[in-house]
Amino acid sequence: MVISNAARSRLAAHDKQHIWHPFTQMQEYVEEKPLIIEKGNGCTLFDIDGNAYLDGVASLWTNVHGHRKAKLDNAVRDQLDRVAHTTLLGLSNVPAISLAEKLIAVAPRGLTRVFYSDNGSTAVEIALKMAFQYTRQCDGTNEKTGFITFRNAYHGDTIGSVSVGGIDLFHEKYSPLLFTAHKAESPYCYRCPFGLSPCACGLECLNRLEALMRARAREVCALVIEPLVQGAAGILVHPPGFLRKVRELCTRYDILMIADEVAVGFGKTGSMFACDVEDVAPDMMTLAKGISGGYLPLAATLTTEKIYSGFLGRYEEFKTFFHGHTYTGNPLACAAAIANLEVFEEERVLEHVREIARHMAERLESFRTLTHVGDVRRIGIMAGIELVADRASRRPFAPEEKVGHRVILEARRRGLIIRPLGNVIVLMPPLAISAEEIDRLCQITFDSIRAVTGP
Ligand code: PMP
Repeated sequence: MVISNAARSRLAAHDKQHIWHPFTQMQEYVEEKPLIIEKGNGCTLFDIDGNAYLDGVASLWTNVHGHRKAKLDNAVRDQLDRVAHTTLLGLSNVPAISLAEKLIAVAPRGLTRVFYSDNGSTAVEIALKMAFQYTRQCDGTNEKTGFITFRNAYHGDTIGSVSVGGIDLFHEKYSPLLFTAHKAESPYCYRCPFGLSPCACGLECLNRLEALMRARAREVCALVIEPLVQGAAGILVHPPGFLRKVRELCTRYDILMIADEVAVGFGKTGSMFACDVEDVAPDMMTLAKGISGGYLPLAATLTTEKIYSGFLGRYEEFKTFFHGHTYTGNPLACAAAIANLEVFEEERVLEHVREIARHMAERLESFRTLTHVGDVRRIGIMAGIELVADRASRRPFAPEEKVGHRVILEARRRGLIIRPLGNVIVLMPPLAISAEEIDRLCQITFDSIRAVTGP
């Protein structure tokens, strides 16, 4: 289908006129030409003018096997021939059942129950409510009502998930609406909150976390963590062993561990789940984004038999988990998710990721030669390049310079879609990306940073 010039102009005008874009300063958005995507194929997206772009952020960290993956397309089409949507309230459906079985088979040990929803924030919201209600019903004290979370954490945009968030720019404004969560320092090693240097620090952040847990254990039901890497804060990769130690501390202080794998799940670290990397078994795990291969909105909160059992009883005991969204366990999305997991097995996707991640690591080394690159962080195929005004002092660029935004506009002109998080340039392509595409991704990013900040 060829879109006429008149239709393209109309789309651009109506986009600005009617759509309120998320996390976007609309006053500035309407001053720029909108990039309107019409179609995709593999790791490439095409706009309505016919320009091709490499999808360097996997359509917001969701796409796994590329766009228009035949197996996923067919799975959705086949399901469409049966039924598009029913409900899990009182009924069940075939794809939701099969998917639950498949998720449990690949999930960290001990997770046996799947509660579906349709986005990452609600998966977290559900975990928070579940942990709270479980503890109230089983603990008997009614005192363990709070949560422990980390500075720089991001768990979504609903009120509960914002309450356990730790990025001031996004979360501070809503503070009067939020419940209190106790904040532990996060291991942001490039800007260590204790002024220590990595390796020689003795993981002071863990010592402080333990002190916080000891002080708050009687008031806290759960800790929420993005395992191995805080994504939205700028790909802050945690030191090895951090996650496993957090698990040990949660067990020691009788605090449930909620692993938020919304961003990192489904292969991005080179393992199916980030928890697998340190052989950690959380009490709850939240999944979204890559769960459906990046095709349809779907999320899941997984938990253990022990927690599930805490909700059992006769109706009049009111132990039921009173929570459920209309599109919970949507059959089309579950069908895509089943096909997604099958491709992981059939095409040995994790092996490919590990190989391609090594290649990406080599290509990223050259970024350190750029004067305004302060830090290059990577785990699997997630990378964050932190740009600084002054490398010696690590002084950040001022927000009004919009350096990150200027870099991604430059990259766009060169045929690459990426997104900044402040002054961190994030690269997170679909897992299916090839070595040649990694080369292009890195080269365009490098050239764009140099064009904006200098050599
Ligand atoms: N948790 C984490 C770790 C995330 O990175 C995100 C989204 N980036 C969310 C939760 C929220 O997911 P959603 O945008 O689907 O609500």
